[in-house]
Amino acid sequence: MAPRDGFQSVGPVIPTREKIRIIAALYDAGLRRIEVTSFVGPAVPQLADAVEVLAAARALAGLDAQVLVPNQRHAERALAAGARHLAFFLSVSERHNENNVRRSVAESVAEYARVAAIRPAGVKLRLNLATAFDCPFEGRVAESATLELLGRLLEVESDAEVALCDTTGRVTPGHVAALFTAAMQQYPRVAAWAFHAHDTYGMGAANALAAWQAGVSVFDASAGGLGGCPFAPGATGNVATEDLVWMFDGMGVASGVELGRLAAVGREIARLPGAQTGGRVREALARSAEIGSGQHMGGLKK
Ligand code: MG
Repeated sequence: MAPRDGFQSVGPVIPTREKIRIIAALYDAGLRRIEVTSFVGPAVPQLADAVEVLAAARALAGLDAQVLVPNQRHAERALAAGARHLAFFLSVSERHNENNVRRSVAESVAEYARVAAIRPAGVKLRLNLATAFDCPFEGRVAESATLELLGRLLEVESDAEVALCDTTGRVTPGHVAALFTAAMQQYPRVAAWAFHAHDTYGMGAANALAAWQAGVSVFDASAGGLGGCPFAPGATGNVATEDLVWMFDGMGVASGVELGRLAAVGREIARLPGAQTGGRVREALARSAEIGSGQHMGGLKK
């Protein structure tokens, strides 16, 4: 998520060639699915280069370059630019949806139907349910509200990956496990489930583990933990990809990502002007490498 959710949160505009270089570095670290940009309006100047960034990402063999689109108009732009994987988003909470996209939830459901209707065969679709667990304005979101909205969305389009998003980072593992378990029981035909964790309260990896144990195998994360939390200024947002790769590596769950290379990209991302970063593993690895190299030099002396 770093090149979209992450870059979007950075104030100073990152040069397009720098974005493309970072996407290529993430690819070289083994990532084969990256949300590379978003097709949005001029209100987000950081992502105004979506066409160029997507074109560069599409040149990376075997990369599933996902792009976020808020509506039909921008979905059309993304498709014209060659997008093969669209992600749409709406919130379960009326207040958050109104705040985020200036629409009622019902209007967003209708917009999702329009995006689904223009999707050509072979183009993948991901549905992000923001505030699936918790809303910054309304607090805990009832499980029944999330499940009911998901049911309406699945009537619109049954062939999408569904991501439940912890928008505030306030969620704890029991809630994550309970909602995914209930959703999977109620909607067993969903093509794939995904979890978008935030680490604002330090629960990102714990929540991802709970989702994994409930049967989720797609996890959103951001290299360097890039992306602040708009509802808790100064706090971290997205869980760091390095932290999840460290956890899954330790569990023997293959992600195809080379942790050392990923951490190096995370450190580069953390140095971007205006970057708000998070995560622990990147710096812990750097410190242990320093200690490791000291021991090695000691060995050489003897
Ligand atoms: Mg996020």
